Amino acid sequence: MLFFLISCFSFLLLSKSFSLKPFLLMTNDWRLLSLPWFWEELCSFIVSWLQKGTLDISFYQASQIMPLKKINHGAKVERVEEERVISLLDLPDLALECILERLSPAGLCSMAEVCASLRERCRSDHFWEKHMKPKWGRLIGDAAYREWECHLASTKRPTLLAQNKQNALLSFVQRIFPLSWIRPKLECKNEPRNSLPVDSIMALFLSLESGKFCFPAQVYNRENRNVGFMLSCYDAKLCYDSQTDTFLASYSTCGRRMTEDNIRWDRIRAPAVDTPSNVLHISDCLSDLNPGDHVEIQWRRNKEFPYGWWYCVVGHLESCSGNENYCHCPYRDTVILEFKQYTPGSRWRRTTISRKDHREEGDEAGGFYGGIRKLYLQDEISTWKSLWPAQILE
Ligand SMILES: [Zn+2]
Repeated sequence: MLFFLISCFSFLLLSKSFSLKPFLLMTNDWRLLSLPWFWEELCSFIVSWLQKGTLDISFYQASQIMPLKKINHGAKVERVEEERVISLLDLPDLALECILERLSPAGLCSMAEVCASLRERCRSDHFWEKHMKPKWGRLIGDAAYREWECHLASTKRPTLLAQNKQNALLSFVQRIFPLSWIRPKLECKNEPRNSLPVDSIMALFLSLESGKFCFPAQVYNRENRNVGFMLSCYDAKLCYDSQTDTFLASYSTCGRRMTEDNIRWDRIRAPAVDTPSNVLHISDCLSDLNPGDHVEIQWRRNKEFPYGWWYCVVGHLESCSGNENYCHCPYRDTVILEFKQYTPGSRWRRTTISRKDHREEGDEAGGFYGGIRKLYLQDEISTWKSLWPAQILE
């Protein structure tokens, strides 16, 4: 271990931008190895150093010049330079893990190209979860994972088509993550270099990033600025475009396939409930609806259309003054739902549902109202409010 430290710090000294004198003086003290900040500082430095890409020698060919050694040959004393090749793989597991978990997706992809050992490490779910959750965790729900499993089932068979898809994916990765700062030297000839495990988180992440995997989600305010969809949320298949950092949505309506592009992240959510868009949602909150509650209700234009989810609030009955001391609304069977994005008097402003006997209700003129869900999370309510139209609708 001491040898590693000496080797490692000598190696770092080759970069002239960093002084490690204080560290070198301390390496004689074994207690240093147990200090958490020591590993943190070491890893942070190596990662930032690697990512700067300023190294003008091959990382894996780096030669470490050991202290000059004197050798006697008779009366002469020669100064001989001892050279020893060091590798990133010589690092202890803990140090290597510290470095890898600080790499960006691009860094992990680059490092995975170096050799078979680093390829296996860099494709570990452990490192990719750290990138998957912050960026995609909010959007990739149960429905998306089921779709991904179906996608895997169709690609696990070693067909030519599947191989072509994987090659296309790797071409994309190489295009967006150029490997300019690192030169692979250690290559295992017996293993296909490009074989990416299809059931890994890395595969899912890269498939999402490349737009190769289109996932089911819901789009707020479909057909952006179309008043007919204001404060609603409809199911769609979303494909990510990394160039614009937006999504392309495709959905079917009345048998026609429609698309909408340039959809931003804040207009997308994972489906809130596990109910397909053509199925009536079973409402389980009817007995818990009180004036002021925020809810979503299914609605569709006619029975040929899919349901969308529409935001509304529970209102007071006409027989109630709205004074909470005398409000009897929670004890009545009829529940008033108010769509306050529409002007008072609009036929879209209010509807009623039965608390005890709720089912799909409506007609061809006013559309059909379906299942209802109460919003308990402030985040969900805030999202709807952030989408509020600039002007009240007729
Ligand atoms: Zn009331």
